[in-house]
Amino acid sequence: MHRIETILSAAALLVAASACTPSTTNATIAGSAASVESAADTPKRVAPTVHTVTASPEGIVVNAYLVETPEGVVAIDSALTVSDAKKLREKLDSLKKPLLAVLLTHGHPDHYNGVTALVEGRPDTPIYSTAEVAKVIAADDAKKEALWKPMFKEQWPDKRTFPNHEIASGTKLDLGGLSFTVFAVGPGESHADSYWVLDADRRYVFVGDVVLHGVHAYVSDGHTTPWLETLARLRRELDGAGVLYPGHGPAGGVELLDWQTRYLESYRASVERLREGREKLSDDAKKTLIADMKQKYPDAALDFLIGLGADAVASELARAH
Ligand SMILES: [Zn+2]
Repeated sequence: MHRIETILSAAALLVAASACTPSTTNATIAGSAASVESAADTPKRVAPTVHTVTASPEGIVVNAYLVETPEGVVAIDSALTVSDAKKLREKLDSLKKPLLAVLLTHGHPDHYNGVTALVEGRPDTPIYSTAEVAKVIAADDAKKEALWKPMFKEQWPDKRTFPNHEIASGTKLDLGGLSFTVFAVGPGESHADSYWVLDADRRYVFVGDVVLHGVHAYVSDGHTTPWLETLARLRRELDGAGVLYPGHGPAGGVELLDWQTRYLESYRASVERLREGREKLSDDAKKTLIADMKQKYPDAALDFLIGLGADAVASELARAH
């Protein structure tokens, strides 16, 4: 297995007099997990290093983040497939520090299926999510397995591990000398989204799939209206935040929220035009939608999602009329 890693800062502890912008580098090798690592100093606090472990295309390029501090590692989300979860665990093991906690952004299997591999041999590891996210996982896990295991076969983990600590929105956790605060945002990309902010000055924001940057969106849960409302609200509330780390695609600034907004507006406009007053798209209309979105986003991955969510959005738009 090959993996390119770029460590932009070897310093584990930095005390800075003034804030500076974290830098990010991408590295990818076809067919294997790629890592992106960035580091930054946090004034008067422990400086974390954020390791990004991006899953393979088969594992729908989900990002897991390993936040390394001098005391240990905090994982944010995980991986979908057995192979990608194994690579994530290998990355964690290579850091040779204790796993302090796993934090989940939302209840889709590409984000929690790999938790079992992360906590294997460490059954007491706290796994945190909002109560709403935990509820979605508990309610939908068996359905997701029935739907997706036939496709992923042995790559679907036999055992999934659920959150063992449910916390309220706004709860702040102190982990490894850092503070992590979770914020619930309600239905959006999933039935219950949330995001995590590392440190009070909001220089690291783990937004989960509120943003899928540069890839086609999963819209099958049918909540694009509240999702757009969340994006507009976060655009105001996160103004001045540092780096946004999305559930899929590369990190960036708050403009990632604009990218997601434009994508969803474009998708909805196409569906609205093509549904012709109905709650579903015809097969031909779906083909047109797929061609439309591929033309608008020629470089975006996960194009199988375009057709998958069409009827959910058509139904959502029909109900709004
Ligand atoms: Zn995802």
